[in-house]
Amino acid sequence: MLRVLVSIKQVPDADDLRVDPVTNTLVREGVPAVINPPDLHAIEEAVRIKERYGGRVTVITMGPPQGEQALKDALALGADDAFLITDRAMAGADTWATSYTLFKAIQKLGGADLYLFGRRAVDGETEQVGPQTAKWLGIPILGYVKEIKEINERSLVAVRATETEEEIVEVPTPVVMTVLESANKPREPDIGSLIRAKTSKVIKLSKDDIQAEQNKIGLAGSPTKVIKVHPPPKTRNPEIRNWKDPGSLDWLVEKIRDSLRSEEALSGGYVKPSPKVKVRGEVWVYLDHVGGKANPASWEIMAEGRRLADLMGTNLSGVVIGEHVDSVKEEAFKHGADKVYHGLTKGFNHYDNDVFTQALSRLIKKYQPEAVLFPGTRNSRELASTTAISVNTGLIADCTSFEVDEKGVLNSTRPDFGGKEMSTIICPTSRPVMVTVRPGVFRPLLIEGKGETIREEVEDLFTRFKVLERKSLERRNVLAEAEVVVGVGRGIRDKSNIRMAEELATKLGGVVGVTKPLADAGWYPKDRQVGQTGTTIRPRLYIALGVSGAVQHLVGISGAKRVISINLDPDAQIFNNSDYGLIGDIFEVVPELIRRL
Ligand SMILES: Cc1cc2nc3c(=O)[nH]c(=O)nc-3n(C[C@H](O)[C@H](O)[C@H](O)COP(=O)(O)OP(=O)(O)OC[C@H]3O[C@@H](n4cnc5c(N)ncnc54)[C@H](O)[C@@H]3O)c2cc1C
Repeated sequence: MLRVLVSIKQVPDADDLRVDPVTNTLVREGVPAVINPPDLHAIEEAVRIKERYGGRVTVITMGPPQGEQALKDALALGADDAFLITDRAMAGADTWATSYTLFKAIQKLGGADLYLFGRRAVDGETEQVGPQTAKWLGIPILGYVKEIKEINERSLVAVRATETEEEIVEVPTPVVMTVLESANKPREPDIGSLIRAKTSKVIKLSKDDIQAEQNKIGLAGSPTKVIKVHPPPKTRNPEIRNWKDPGSLDWLVEKIRDSLRSEEALSGGYVKPSPKVKVRGEVWVYLDHVGGKANPASWEIMAEGRRLADLMGTNLSGVVIGEHVDSVKEEAFKHGADKVYHGLTKGFNHYDNDVFTQALSRLIKKYQPEAVLFPGTRNSRELASTTAISVNTGLIADCTSFEVDEKGVLNSTRPDFGGKEMSTIICPTSRPVMVTVRPGVFRPLLIEGKGETIREEVEDLFTRFKVLERKSLERRNVLAEAEVVVGVGRGIRDKSNIRMAEELATKLGGVVGVTKPLADAGWYPKDRQVGQTGTTIRPRLYIALGVSGAVQHLVGISGAKRVISINLDPDAQIFNNSDYGLIGDIFEVVPELIRRL
């Protein structure tokens, strides 16, 4: 009988989270808790597997006693039994301690053939717990699965999708998979299931029941620690005028022209900061590549890595795994590297979690860097997760800013709940500190450089993955690359009116992006959605037309050099997050702007 285990998380309902205007912190009291929405796709996939092949679906969660409700909801969706891993000592766990706890619980339950996780949790967006649990279990991780094609007695075939490629992979079972939201549409429970679930029993397991070691669970067992929770920083100093004020159009035209002119001054050259300390190890940046072609996200992280290495008084090194990666190494020196480590994996040029984890772990153990930064691409996040368990250290996810304190400790800051709140996290004792960095936040540096390459051939490699087919998605993200973006929100009223925004964008040599409601309504392609669940953009100029400025939209535009907004409502949130704003009707202002520019 096929045993499928789904691991879920209970999270506060993001729609109900509000920021207290006085304290500027998130109000969590009274906010209903729900199953983390991406986990619904993992439950759905498990139930479909049961319907197709027979078997039993078990659902587990680690969390406080209230987690019982999430498990009952999962039972109503078709799971057969449910276990709540709960103990006061487990509170405050990071992903290392959480995945260890899940591993111990799974051992206690006797294991399964398939383990399914949602791709991400909407509160922390780490994408780490699935791969890390796989590493503890010693079984393969197949992340980002969009389709399970067939399940055989000792293996399965599934389609895995990254930002740039799709692979059909055969892997032996047991295996952990993280399920993409595009894999299926979760069902609604029927009345009968809801009633049955209400009366079914959720079994509770404590730390002693699962024989978890006290020093590996909860806050005490977590290698990373949150040292500060704070509101998002105010990065703009808005100047707002009214369309009715004389001269306001001239002012706006001048501000738009000025935003496009001031590029040189804004990007500037790199000014090396004075070192605060001198740390022993180096700062490493993992160089993500697709078959030898560098992923540009690595160069963004190199720029920030350069600053951090200089603050720590140490070298900045790139680290690349694979074969035929000469162009990646050369480019690394042009983007600020002092050194490049090359883990040569003969016969493996493409990312393979088994091979790349072995190679990177060996390099880290041998050269003992202080910090390893990874671009937040799917492959890199998965690799960072399994490597952190392999080298036994903390991994901080999805960071958007960094500082180095007087003792040389890296302070990494990341948005929670899509940017409603920021957390600053450190890894006090384990080394290296490992961090994944959100793409689109930092600007690459161009420094003409040359340096030493250290090549290590990694031997005795093994893999459990067999790639049956690989195809490139050739997906170019025009939004992420655009220098000017005209953002359109619900103020546009009708699909046909978007033409006006396109005309403005064309005048400025830019492209149109939209808010989520417009993409959801099919008024514009989904890949043009700006924001938390769309694209993070970093243009020279972002012009928001009839956009209210919801936090999920704002996190996508925080990297824009200039934000100019036009909105009827003087209290619209977008104005607080703009450099310049005009209170007015877009249907009056934009045609005039197009005429004048
Ligand atoms: C989990 C989650 C993820 C999300 N991800 C994203 C995301 O990635 N991206 C995103 O954008 N949203 C996202 N959202 C949705 C987000 O919360 C907001 O609902 C959305 O951004 C609002 O879009 P809007 O500004 O177009 O519409 P509205 O909030 O309705 O604002 C319309 C604005 O237009 C103005 N207006 C109306 N008429 C005119 C006029 N004639 N002239 C000038 N101004 C006018 C109004 O004053 C108003 O400010 C997400 C939500 C959730 C829960």
